[in-house]
Amino acid sequence: MKRIEDIDLKNKRVIIRVDYNVPLDDKLNIIDDNRIRESLKTINYCLDNNCSIILLSHLGKVKEEKDKQTKSLKVVAERLSKLLNKDVIFVKEARGKLVDEAVSNIKNKDIILLENTRFLDLEGKLESGCDEELSKYWANLADIFINDAFGTCHRAHASNVGIAKYSKEKCLGFLVLKELDNLKLVTDNPKKPFTVILGGAKVSDKIGVIENLITKADSILIGGAMAYTFLKAQGNEIGDSLVDMDSLEFAKNMLKKTNKIILPIDHVVANDLNSNNAIKNKIEKGEIGLDIGPKTIELFKNYIENSKTVFWNGPMGYYENKNYEKGTKAICEIISRLNIISIVGGGDSASCVINMGYKDRFTHVSTGGGASLELLEGKELPGIEVMN
Ligand code: AMP
Repeated sequence: MKRIEDIDLKNKRVIIRVDYNVPLDDKLNIIDDNRIRESLKTINYCLDNNCSIILLSHLGKVKEEKDKQTKSLKVVAERLSKLLNKDVIFVKEARGKLVDEAVSNIKNKDIILLENTRFLDLEGKLESGCDEELSKYWANLADIFINDAFGTCHRAHASNVGIAKYSKEKCLGFLVLKELDNLKLVTDNPKKPFTVILGGAKVSDKIGVIENLITKADSILIGGAMAYTFLKAQGNEIGDSLVDMDSLEFAKNMLKKTNKIILPIDHVVANDLNSNNAIKNKIEKGEIGLDIGPKTIELFKNYIENSKTVFWNGPMGYYENKNYEKGTKAICEIISRLNIISIVGGGDSASCVINMGYKDRFTHVSTGGGASLELLEGKELPGIEVMN
């Protein structure tokens, strides 16, 4: 597998798959540009090598024609241009006449960003179905394909896997290399004690991780709504808290199999999102658990402070509401004071760490939620495998 530094890029035309799937608000402002900032190292390296650059990315899910209005990469082109302090040519389609024209006029050090690759899904799932012709079309636009979109490496789409198959030369960019190097710290012989912290709402997304890490990890701390599925599996009252009924059996089996799973011992509860909240050791009928309580924070703190490695995925509560962000913030705070290997596996917990201002205190904050979870499940990622 070639790394970007292994290839002679001088004066070449490169096509880079970046991950500009950034969150946008209702007015189409970018809420978090971390993924754009993380792509700059590879782009600047290509500019230093006098390359001409074509960028490919998806943005969100594109299911119907009207999604085109809210999922355009134009806002990303503008932000990228600001961050690079350089023009970025935005092409209003991902394949066709406009692309051919822009590419035939491209000069060294020019940067072209093509429109959302998933717009082509409206023509028959061409992107996400890894259409052969589309893959060849993109591969033929440049001399070298660079995969720098870690966030999509668990998917086999035309713009990452298909294009790689048909490119004459290909390599991994700096962002993907950094992700793989850092995630190795938890997948390959993590320094022990190794603590896994899981939260968020969907247990089903994290079943594979729990199964794979249950032997490697010393403890698995579970907070967030996920915890209620486990507490219910133990026979506790959880009121109207979120529960993943499909994962209840799994939770029961896991709790039988191991004593490494540590659950909350108190909760911030409310009758609904608009009513006052209270801290309680036990949830009662009609109440919703919305965050971990102070005793749980202390309990989790002891485990984290005794660790040499922690991996964290999923917020500890309904953090989008300021009343329920304390648990998640406390985990950030605890880890930020320690000199340990700390890896955050993308998704909501990564946004929390970044937005709450703790990013620099972590060893690594992944840009890919799904991709990092799949790596931790012990799976091979198709977007990486194809680069061999
Ligand atoms: P996930 O995608 O599975 O990581 O879930 C992230 C979501 O879980 C976020 O939107 C959180 O607000 C939500 N969440 C975490 N804890 C709770 C909770 N106790 N009650 C409701 N939602 C929660």
